[in-house]
Amino acid sequence: MRPFTSTIFAEITALATRTGAINLGQGFPDTDGPRELLDAASEAIHGGQNQYPPGPGVPVLREAVAQHQKRFYGLDVDPDAEVLVTAGATEAIAATILALCEPGDEVVTFDPVYDSYAASIALAGAVRKTVTLRWPGFALDEAELRAAFGPRTRVVLVNTPHNPTGKVFDRTELELIGALAREHGAVVVTDEVYEHQVYDDGVHLPMTTLPGLAEQTITISSAGKTFSVTGWKVGWLHGPAELVAAVRAVKQFLTFVNAGPFQPAVAVGLGLGDDFYRTLAGDLRAKRDLLCDGLRAAGFEVSVPRGTYFVVADAVPLGFDDGVELCQRLPELAGVAAVPVSAFHDDPDAARSLVRFAFCKRDEVLQEAVERLGRLSR
Ligand code: PMP
Ligand code: GLN
Repeated sequence: MRPFTSTIFAEITALATRTGAINLGQGFPDTDGPRELLDAASEAIHGGQNQYPPGPGVPVLREAVAQHQKRFYGLDVDPDAEVLVTAGATEAIAATILALCEPGDEVVTFDPVYDSYAASIALAGAVRKTVTLRWPGFALDEAELRAAFGPRTRVVLVNTPHNPTGKVFDRTELELIGALAREHGAVVVTDEVYEHQVYDDGVHLPMTTLPGLAEQTITISSAGKTFSVTGWKVGWLHGPAELVAAVRAVKQFLTFVNAGPFQPAVAVGLGLGDDFYRTLAGDLRAKRDLLCDGLRAAGFEVSVPRGTYFVVADAVPLGFDDGVELCQRLPELAGVAAVPVSAFHDDPDAARSLVRFAFCKRDEVLQEAVERLGRLSR
């Protein structure tokens, strides 16, 4: 694990704290989630739900996950055999990779890649095969994708909507990935933690809804993003009973169980009305536009994200061709913190001058950040 000793998010947050910069680096909201969730959690704590919950998760949350998948995607999920509650999506990813991969097995991932994927694959002794999504459109290259699959491919790990690019994979891309997974007998693992943060005419398409894929797909999501409770670490996964049982066997020796009183509160969140979900996406779209406009005005070139709460910008027009160096200096130059996209890449040249900003912040914070970034070109 020597290459994984510190995460870029922890580093940049420490830098922002040290310098007092506005932290648009690590992605976490600066407001609390819905009142109903907070009340439900505090009722659960005061109502005595403070001991180990059941291994697969409290029934009310597993039921709520199944209903959510029915309501938004028309899926039939058995809450008893096909759902597992985890310590965030992070544990769901780690436990899934550890359950499915033997040393030497290959996992196809997409660069820029969320940092915990590479670490989880390393923990399993598995080998990562990388497909690169390239600035500015981050389109999937079919030849590169085909070349990443081989006889030892065990898993393809997809993240849509995609952190850090904000890309929402379209049906054609997902069908191609699915067809290759089927051809090679690989399990599709999809990280859908930003499923409700999709903008404009974008549509989130869970891979498990594609024809013929449900039997070999594990779908992962989390409460952190949807309900602005990143510190609660409540995630979940669902898929075919046998695969879920294998992941449950691993999870019980990672954390055993987690988040007793927060699990019923997340169940309340998943049951919130359509207006909650509409407002979430509508508010974030406005924040995206505020930040993208501000970044452009400050001199960056911007790739407008269709999903997530991140935007990737190129600093070359401002005269910076090294994103790592810029992110180290940005607090001093402009009082703002951001994350270099090269931290998510094996090949640093694929994203040398790119920087990621998070827009899950109050409007006045974003306005102030944009105002400060304007100093870069002055
Ligand atoms: N996957 C992606 C793509 C993420 O951006 C994050 C970050 N929050 C996670 C997984 C981890 O989610 P959790 O906090 O629920 O572990
Ligand atoms: N997912 C968050 C991000 O991409 C950070 C999570 C973390 O710090 N591990 O910024």
